[in-house]
Amino acid sequence: MAAVPRVTDAYDVMRIREDFPILARRVNGRPLVYLDSAASAQQPATVIDAVAGYSREHHANVHRGIHTLSQEATALYEAARERVRRFVNARSASEIVFVRGTTEAINLVAQAHGRAQLEQGDEILISWLEHHSNIVPWQLLCEQTGAILRVVPIDRRGVVDNDAYAGMLGPRTRIVALAQVSNALGTVLPLRELLELARRRGITTVVDGAQAVPHQRVDVQQLGCDFYAFSGHKMYGPTGIGVLYGRESILESMPPWQGGGEMILSVSFSGTTYNHLPHRFEAGTPNIAGAVGLGAAIDYIEAVGIDRIGRHEQELLASATAQLASIPGLTLIGTAPQKSSLVSFAVDGIHPHDLGTVLDSEGIAVRTGHHCAMPVMEFFGVPATTRASFGLYNSRAEIDELYGAVLRAIRMLR
Ligand code: PLP
Repeated sequence: MAAVPRVTDAYDVMRIREDFPILARRVNGRPLVYLDSAASAQQPATVIDAVAGYSREHHANVHRGIHTLSQEATALYEAARERVRRFVNARSASEIVFVRGTTEAINLVAQAHGRAQLEQGDEILISWLEHHSNIVPWQLLCEQTGAILRVVPIDRRGVVDNDAYAGMLGPRTRIVALAQVSNALGTVLPLRELLELARRRGITTVVDGAQAVPHQRVDVQQLGCDFYAFSGHKMYGPTGIGVLYGRESILESMPPWQGGGEMILSVSFSGTTYNHLPHRFEAGTPNIAGAVGLGAAIDYIEAVGIDRIGRHEQELLASATAQLASIPGLTLIGTAPQKSSLVSFAVDGIHPHDLGTVLDSEGIAVRTGHHCAMPVMEFFGVPATTRASFGLYNSRAEIDELYGAVLRAIRMLR
């Protein structure tokens, strides 16, 4: 397996960039400026090599295999689980369920926990800034159980209204599900305080951490949440692998979600007994290579240092915010005082898709659209935004490139 990179004390972004082979690419004849990490972050060579190394040398199906390769694959898969446990400071590896991604994790909670617990008239509380994957699973659950989905408002900065939230926690609230960071606006929610209010009332708390884990230290015990969901591909790992953290006592109380191999201890036609945690929630052959890659991604983040990554990205955010805000006719969408590493914006008279196309012609990759957060777009009265999102490998020079290219695009499109 590839060695973990050694990074020196100074945040040497040019040195870090060398760890990411794709960043050497040219796009449309220009050096790639990748500003779409919130959709999917690029992978360092150590992650690519870990996945390839697993496939070349260790691949076999996991658990119960008696032969050497199966035991090696199992050891690698379970070692990745332990790395995830440490990364989010869960008490036990039994609390770490491997899933496809954040979307699957939240659906798992809605169906395995929510469906068994909720009754007609019970309430689920989310906020206005959620990604569709923290809205639609709850809407499905409401259709199935007769529960009611309630939505905490945000203000014009994209900040969740804490007082409204406190007032909406009622005797029928059973689940609170909140993003830690908004993918469309960048808002960082004061989750500890918000979750504490729910916890005191015995309400189940679910966190969508997809946009938080690559940028800030996450400690599920400190947060005090019951569930925490995130995706490997947004934290420099492969696609198709993600994590549901679940508090052990609550996972123990849940019926299985999907049935099949891996999740059972014994099966007969007179009855089936289910496997221990976390395997009870991992029916079928898992994404073993993906888990190995995710483990390598965590090693990479830890080698660079999550706090240093966060500080570097805050500098990029400050620079991008100041430069873009100075452009006449450009409106920043999402101006919360606590923001993570992205800027979303609209330009008078120019459709984001046109802007994105012109930027792409200069090798600059940004995302344009509703960012799977259509209620946010509706709230701000725009069909779509242009979003530039930063990762640990982005440089100040790239932010300057973005600024210059946006100015040129506006001149061209007006
Ligand atoms: N939640 C947030 C805040 C996101 O940004 C995303 C992806 O953009 C998701 C959930 C869904 O993640 P995935 O598609 O990996 O399941």
